[in-house]
Amino acid sequence: MKKKLIIANWKMNGGVVANGKLLMAMLKFTNTLSHSELVVCPPHIYMHQVKEYIVGSGIKLGAQNVNENEVGAYTGEISVEMLGDFYCRYCLVGHSERRALFNESNTSIANKILRLVAGGLTPVLCIGENLAQRERGEVKDVITKQLAAIIDIVGLKCFKSVIIAYEPIWAIGTGKTASVKQAQEIHRVIRQYLCNLDKKMFKGLSILYGGSVNENNANELIKQIDIDGFLIGGASLKADSLKSIYLGEASVNAY
Ligand code: PEP
Repeated sequence: MKKKLIIANWKMNGGVVANGKLLMAMLKFTNTLSHSELVVCPPHIYMHQVKEYIVGSGIKLGAQNVNENEVGAYTGEISVEMLGDFYCRYCLVGHSERRALFNESNTSIANKILRLVAGGLTPVLCIGENLAQRERGEVKDVITKQLAAIIDIVGLKCFKSVIIAYEPIWAIGTGKTASVKQAQEIHRVIRQYLCNLDKKMFKGLSILYGGSVNENNANELIKQIDIDGFLIGGASLKADSLKSIYLGEASVNAY
C-alpha cells in the first residue's frame, strides 16, 4: 500500500520554543503505526533544530526554498548542497506565495528542480489556479500550461522525480477548501496529462492536495483515488490537527 505523504509547510512561523513543543508532539504521534509519512519544512534557520529532534524517527526534513545556483555570491541564499548537509530530502518549488511575492519565474523554478534532482533531493512542485481563472473555467488549461512550462525546460527524465502539489491559490490560507470533487477532478487531469506523455514513467506519480486542509476535511479528500497526500500550512502548526490528519484514514491509492 502506498503511504500518504503529509508535508508540513511552516512558512515563516515558529521559534525555538514553539518548534520544540510541536516536534515533541510529532515524535509521539508518529511513533504509532500509521499509513502516513511526515515531512517537516521549517524556515531554513530552524533546520538544524528540526534535524536534531527527528534523528532516528520516521519524520523527514524538507525545505521551503532553495537557490538555483550551485555556489557563490548570492547573499542570503541557500544551496542544494547545504540542504543536503542537514539530510534534507524534499524541497518545495513554485509555491504560489513565492511566485507572487518573490516573482519566481518558470525558468527559475525549472532550474531549481534541475539542481535539486542532480543533488538527490525530491522537488515538490506547487501548481494551481487563482480564483479568476477558476471562475472563467480555465483551470485545466492553467494547470497543464504550468506543467508544460517546467517540463519544456527540465525534460521528462528529470520531471519523473518530481512530486506535484495541486494548490488552488484561492484555497491557500483562506479556510476555503476545494470540494472533494473539484480536487479529485484536477488531480485526475494532472495524472492523465503526465501519463499521456509517458505512462510507464509516471506510474508511481504522487500528487498532493494543498489548500486549507484540516482535520475536518482530510479524511474525505484522502479517499479520492488520485489524492496521494497533503501539503499543509496552517493546520501543520497545530499538533492536534496534524495528528488527526496523520492518523486519519489510510490512503489506499494503489495506482
Ligand atoms: C500551503 O502553505 O501550501 C498551504 C496549503 O497552506 P494552508 O494549508 O494554510 O492553506
